[in-house]
Parts: sequence; structure tokens; C-alpha cells
Amino acid sequence: ISTVAMNESISIIGAGLAGSALSVLLSNHGFSNINVYEKRPRETDQTLPQNRARSINLALSDRGIKTLKAAGVIDEIEKIAIPMKGRMIHSIDSKTNFQPYSSNSDKHLLSVSRQLLNEKMRDYAERKSGDRIKFHYDVSCRDVNFRDNSFTLVNNETKESKRITTNTLVGSDGAFSAVRQAMTRQDRQEYSQSFLEHGYKELCIPAGPNGTFLLERECLHIWPRGAYMMIALPNIDGSFTCTLFFPFEGETNSFAALNSREKVDNFFKTIFPDAYAVMPTLLDDFDANPTSSLVTVKTYPWSVGSKAVLIGDAAHAIVPFYGQGMNAAFEDVLDLYQCIIEESKGSVEFSNEAFTAAYRRYQINRKKNSDAIAEMAVENFIEMRDKVADEMFVFKKKVEHLLEEKFQLRYISRYELISFSTTPYSEAQRIGLINQQILSELVKEANFDINKIDLTKADNLIKQLLGK
Ligand code: FAD
Repeated sequence: ISTVAMNESISIIGAGLAGSALSVLLSNHGFSNINVYEKRPRETDQTLPQNRARSINLALSDRGIKTLKAAGVIDEIEKIAIPMKGRMIHSIDSKTNFQPYSSNSDKHLLSVSRQLLNEKMRDYAERKSGDRIKFHYDVSCRDVNFRDNSFTLVNNETKESKRITTNTLVGSDGAFSAVRQAMTRQDRQEYSQSFLEHGYKELCIPAGPNGTFLLERECLHIWPRGAYMMIALPNIDGSFTCTLFFPFEGETNSFAALNSREKVDNFFKTIFPDAYAVMPTLLDDFDANPTSSLVTVKTYPWSVGSKAVLIGDAAHAIVPFYGQGMNAAFEDVLDLYQCIIEESKGSVEFSNEAFTAAYRRYQINRKKNSDAIAEMAVENFIEMRDKVADEMFVFKKKVEHLLEEKFQLRYISRYELISFSTTPYSEAQRIGLINQQILSELVKEANFDINKIDLTKADNLIKQLLGK
């Protein structure tokens, strides 16, 4: 280790979605001497053939959009996104059924490439910040020490290390965060991680001739199959990124069981026939792409005085079934930023007092909400893989849309509160439980006939239980 000590003001570990967004907001506000350290090389996605073939996309919703607006980058992001207005459910006999997200057809999610989103934000930060932010690529943070607030930075190519001291360290280094790992050695630091028995693999439906879309373009496609499912989100080049969520283990219907190209081929041909027909590179993709795990991480506190704070997946990795991990990470960013500027009272210098107060306020604001979305994300896994094909579930959704239409602003579905509003997640969870009570009451005597839903009873239940 070379012991060249460098003194820095704000060191951000991880130039992923959360880290880049925070650097943009802080520098736009006038903070300087911000250094962002990223483990991956700058041009990873263009230069390595294994990355070139893969395009991972994410569903961006209102919460994330709010932060991107505050950062001034939303116009650029909208140009590289595709609106998704609902779910297209594909059954095993290749029939499709479109379920709009909302009774209001203007509401949609945005499908956006993780790589492009990240690049746009970093480009914007570099362009707009002058020398207030510096990005460093291909360097890994290790051995964080909160006594003197220092960390080791390893250059991944040369393997050279240096020790850096900093005023404050932001851990935006994802689900397996090195900053969080150091925090877990602090006294009374709570920590848990749990894995689903399912993993995931990304696959591809390429564009048709002249960049045409081979499935309906403006939808999130789902192939629910009980114990597992596949989804697909559109990309701007006409392709779709598919993700198979599938058990790791098991004698049949598991990654372990699909142990030959022939078995993979037969499985897709039988289980996802309409997708299979448009997946010419399926077998090669299945071999080449990794099988990854799905983790929920909880920890608390999220800060060490004014010395360090966690944001995004580093603070709360969640499973992806509400499409909210990035959105929650962006919400963290905006909340933390607002706490910092309020506590700093106009100053753009680091202050122990202001940053301690800001970090404390932020973690109290956000912890209950990240716990709520973590729980709802696991529940939504069951909903997406299993219930979207269930008759009662589908009927309740219809009734829900009827209530949203008839009782606008009084009855709002949990999905809508999460994806199309910035209502705190914990509040959305509370309202969602009441909504379920109302729906269960209303469907009792309707016998799957939407015309038999008693709207007077609905009106009373909404008044009584939701107080609206
Ligand atoms: P990351 O994006 O993971 O960024 C962390 C960065 O830190 C990375 O660039 C990494 O290279 C770097 N890093 C890590 N360790 C170090 C180190 N020691 N030193 C330096 N740098 C380091 N969310 C949604 O909102 N919508 C979706 O549709 C959605 N779909 C998903 C689908 C799947 C299959 C998965 C797995 C997740 C999905 N998510 C989705 C969640 C979303 O990807 C994450 O919540 C989001 O990426 C979190 O952002 P982050 O900046 O906290 O972490």
C-alpha cells in the first residue's frame, strides 16, 4: 500500500444510479470537491463483447422521475425511454390479455436501459459540474475506517492502493456494499440478508426487420406460470430484455434441472411458446448469461455521525418485483439532498454539525419506507408469478379499476400509490391493506359479474374505512 493520503470533502463510493444522481444534485447546488469512485471501467458496456450483447432495462416510475427532474436530467432520459401502459399477460396457449396499470390511460412507467441512464447522468455531471465533481473509474473501495475516516482505494488494473481520508463518505456501492460492510463492525449495527429460492437470468427477444418490435411495444410483458415467471421490457432499438425468474434447485422446473441445451429448448418451446418463437438466440443466451440471486438486505443505522451514510441498495436491497429498487434509491437521494441543504442553511461547505443532523433526519425519514417496499416487493413476486392468472385476482383488479373510475381521488389502488405517486411507501402499504378489505367485501356477492358490484356499499366502505 502506498500511503499517499488525500484529503477530500465528499467521497461517493459507487457511480451507479444513486451515487451519480446524488453527485449531480450536490454539485448543481454548489458543493465542490466531490469525488466519485467506481469499481467498473468507464467504457465497460461498449468494449466488452459479453456486455455488448446484453441490455438490461428498468421500469422508472414517478418517484424516480421526481429526482431526475430535480437533477435536471429528465428530458434527456425521456428521449431514451419507452412508456409502458400496462401488463400484457401471455398464457401457455399463447393467448394474450392486456391489463392497464390504471383506469387513467395517461399513466405509464418508463422502460429505460440501466446503462444509458447511468451514462447520461454521469455525462451530465461531468459536463455541468466544471471541476466540482471528479469521477474515478476502475477503482475499488476497501477497508473503510471510521476512526480516522479513511478508506483504501485499489486501482483494479495496476493493483496499486492508496489510503484516502475524507470528511464524509457516501456508500452508494450497491447490494454488496463495502461501506456497509465496515458499518456492520460498528457496535449495535443491525444487519440481515435473505435470499429468495428463485434466481434470475436475462435473455433477449431481438428487434425484427428495420427495428420493429416483435411483441406489443408499450407494455410490460409477463408469462406467469405459477411457481415461476418470465417478464420482458421493451428497448428503444426494438428489442426486448426478458428476465426468467426461476427456482435455483429442484428436480424439474429449476435452473439446476435445465442442464442441457435440449432441455432448455424443450422447456421454452412448451412453457413460453409465443416467446420461444421470437427468441432465436435463446440457447446461446441461456448458456452465456449468468444466473443471479435475489437478495433483501436490511441494516440500521444508515449513518455514522457525519462520517458516512448509505443510500440505495447499499442501505436496503430489495427484490425487483415492484420495479422499485432504483426508484427507492432515487427517493433516498432526493431526501438526503434536501436534508443536507436544509441543515447546511445555505452553506456549501462540509460541516460536522449540519451533516450529522442531515444524516439522522434522512435515515429516520427513509427507514420505515424502505422496510415497507421491501415487504411489498416480496408480496408482488407472488402476485406477478401466480395470481395474475387467477380468476379472483383478475376480477378484483377489474373491480379496483371500477372503483378508481367511480370514486376518483377517494379510492386509489396500492399499485397506483406506489408507481404513480410519491405517497410514502409505508402509507401506501397501510392504504393497500384497507383496499383489500374493501375489495373482499364487494366481490363476495358479485359472482364474478362486474355489473353486480354494489356501488352504494362501495361508497360507504370508502367513507368508513378510508375516511374519504
Ligand atoms: P447500483 O446500481 O448497484 O450501483 C452500485 C455501484 O457501485 C455499481 O456501479 C458498482 O460497480 C459500484 N461498486 C460496488 N462496490 C464498489 C466498491 N467497493 N468500490 C467502488 N464501486 C463499487 N429497480 C427499479 O426501480 N425498477 C426496475 O424495473 C428494476 N428491475 C430490476 C431487475 C432486476 C433483475 C434487479 C436485480 C434489480 C432491479 N431493480 C429495479 C433494482 C435496481 O437495479 C437497483 O435498486 C438499483 O440499481 C440501485 O441503485 P444503486 O445506485 O443503489 O446501486
